[in-house]
Amino acid sequence: MPSAGRPLASLALAATFSLAGAGGAAAVTVPEPAPVENLEQDIKTAQTATDAYWATHWNEFFTGTYTSPTVVGLYDGTNPATAPVCGGQPLGPGNAYYCPEGDYVAWDIGLMETGYLNGDAWPYLVVAHEWGHAVQYRLAEELRSQAAELQADCFAGASLFGAAADGTLVFEDGDQQELEAALTALADQTPWTKAGDHGNAAERVEAFSTGREGGPAACLPEAP
Ligand SMILES: [Zn+2]
Repeated sequence: MPSAGRPLASLALAATFSLAGAGGAAAVTVPEPAPVENLEQDIKTAQTATDAYWATHWNEFFTGTYTSPTVVGLYDGTNPATAPVCGGQPLGPGNAYYCPEGDYVAWDIGLMETGYLNGDAWPYLVVAHEWGHAVQYRLAEELRSQAAELQADCFAGASLFGAAADGTLVFEDGDQQELEAALTALADQTPWTKAGDHGNAAERVEAFSTGREGGPAACLPEAP
């Protein structure tokens, strides 16, 4: 899911087998590890597109003025001495965070690199999800869902597909499947997503789809 004009990242397509045309030999594309520069560029693109989406559309859905969270960005969670601090604790490895007290978003390099091996949609999901938490903290209490993690997934779907509609992101074939696979992997495997806190895989995919199809308004709790 590179921004417009960028070449397709290799991993989105690398797992497919391509057959050459008539007379050609069957060719198999072997996945190569994505260079870290591509990851950093994808993270940057995700940040820019997500922030632009909320800045552009905030007033269509919410009152007040949108302010961007601070982006602390990549950190090394295996080194507590250098990791950002939230609530008096260094942020841990294998995870990503929105920290309300500092109003900042941050993602562990290990989480990003590992997920990126499965496709370049990963950093977009992580960034848009954490941004979704920043959005929640900007909302009146009654607009925050009690299922905070599913609401963040919903806002992630709304902002990524909203950005695509605005033309600030371009989806490649396979990105939708990658996003669903990433949500499933996060629900099943990583410490941030014990079912209790983030919902199970099906719930996460459903929440993301709700945002994708209905936009931010579809992510808000039903009026009583
Ligand atoms: Zn979350």
